Amino acid sequence: MTGMARNTRIVVVGGGYVGMYTALRLQKKLRRDEADITVIDPQPHMTYQPFLPEAAAGSIEPRHVVVPLRKVLKRCHHLTGRVTRIDHSQREVTAELAAGHVTAVGYDVLVVAPGSVARTLPIPGLAECGIAFKTVGEAIYLRNHVLSRLDAAATTIDPALRRRLLTFLVVGGGYAGIEALAELADMARYASRYYENINREDVRWVLVEAANRIMPEVGPKMGRYTVERLLDADIEVNLETRVKTMEGGHVVLDDGQSFDTDTIIWTAGVKPNPMLENTDLPRDARGRVECTPELQVVDTPGVFCAGDCASVPDLSKDDPDAKTSPSAQHAVRQAKTLADNILAHLRSRPMNRYKHDYAGSVASLGLYKGVAEIYGIKLRGVVAWFMHRTYHVSRMPTWNRRVRIVFDWTGALFLGREIVSLGQINDPRADFDRVAGRPSRPAPEGERPEPVRNPPPEERISAGSRTA
Ligand SMILES: Cc1cc2nc3c(=O)[nH]c(=O)nc-3n(C[C@H](O)[C@H](O)[C@H](O)COP(=O)(O)OP(=O)(O)OC[C@H]3O[C@@H](n4cnc5c(N)ncnc54)[C@H](O)[C@@H]3O)c2cc1C
Repeated sequence: MTGMARNTRIVVVGGGYVGMYTALRLQKKLRRDEADITVIDPQPHMTYQPFLPEAAAGSIEPRHVVVPLRKVLKRCHHLTGRVTRIDHSQREVTAELAAGHVTAVGYDVLVVAPGSVARTLPIPGLAECGIAFKTVGEAIYLRNHVLSRLDAAATTIDPALRRRLLTFLVVGGGYAGIEALAELADMARYASRYYENINREDVRWVLVEAANRIMPEVGPKMGRYTVERLLDADIEVNLETRVKTMEGGHVVLDDGQSFDTDTIIWTAGVKPNPMLENTDLPRDARGRVECTPELQVVDTPGVFCAGDCASVPDLSKDDPDAKTSPSAQHAVRQAKTLADNILAHLRSRPMNRYKHDYAGSVASLGLYKGVAEIYGIKLRGVVAWFMHRTYHVSRMPTWNRRVRIVFDWTGALFLGREIVSLGQINDPRADFDRVAGRPSRPAPEGERPEPVRNPPPEERISAGSRTA
């Protein structure tokens, strides 16, 4: 048999910002006989995370904030699965596939882009009661959950239970936490007008942040402005405060406050994907893969890395130890340099160094409210909110998604927000179990709640806090 040269095998771990944009550029620029690209991700889509708060608040249909990988990466192979190990000495990644099998995939060139995960702390109760805000699943769950708390609160006269159901806690004041808080609070308060016994003021939103400022991404002045807007919206802002415990939803803060809640949204920062611990790639003290300015992994030719999981020198700063921050802004631009450098690597050409001056940030604080700092220019209110929408929709991958999102916004503008909870999504078999006679497991004795005797509806309305 004659030795037929095979194509170079390029494997991309993670189909998020870095993975999807890198693969997009490679499939466009590579000759067909030059390389095969395989993208491995547990999800069949890329998630446009900056739009998750709007998806949670119902301004955008959740399906429209994700980009189907198979549809946009037509010249790539796809493996739906989770990479669990990278053994560069063998040029091999191990993946747990969606069907449950484990497979090994060989490569000649590797792109490492599994992003980051929520950074947790050893707080009692956090693992049981907290939920992060990084995936479209979490955004959909939170929308249904928050609205279903209103539905539940409207049916009880037990004041402690009602307070618990209507209290919502967000821990962490970066843009992800603040946007999620502002959008969800806006939605819950808007929805409250349709409940005859829930007032806007009954819905309590609490922010806890360990530092003495929020949204470091937009600078101290705009951070203070954001705090003022949150206070205007009756959101309780606790700076320089930490959560001590949250067992069973009973939250105790280190300033002595305590309250009960059914909803704890944990957005206190991110850390590199822990999968990287199972690799033989060099990592820094924070667990990020160490990269050169060309986005190659240090001392590992043929392996490239970028995005939230990478430690990339920030050449725009004078400090030689500065690294680029984990943000979409860097991830998208790094993906372009990374793809071009893979082409240079394959074609034995010189590589480019990644350098980008951080342009600033835009954030939405609910409908018609926003804050932005772009190249030092500070914007606020409806102008910043409009900037947020136009900037992100222009950045949304594919025209298909852009058009759908603009339709979503236009529909909401003329037809109003949807305020219905599709709570059945969280327990879709419950009704069928009931009709099919599947025995539901009774709660153990002692954990069964005492029946609460609610008054008839007319009394219930006046028993609530509605005043007018
Ligand atoms: C709510 C929210 C709002 C944000 N808003 C902004 C903003 O306004 N501006 C901004 O600049 N940045 C924003 N960010 C940050 C930005 O989204 C991230 O910095 C960016 O997504 C990082 O890109 P990445 O490719 O490194 O990771 P990701 O985009 O997270 O992609 C990682 C991919 O890897 C996959 N993956 C995970 N584990 C594995 C595994 N074991 N094997 C294979 N695949 C795996 C994941 O499914 C995912 O598809 C926001 C983030 C959030 C959560």
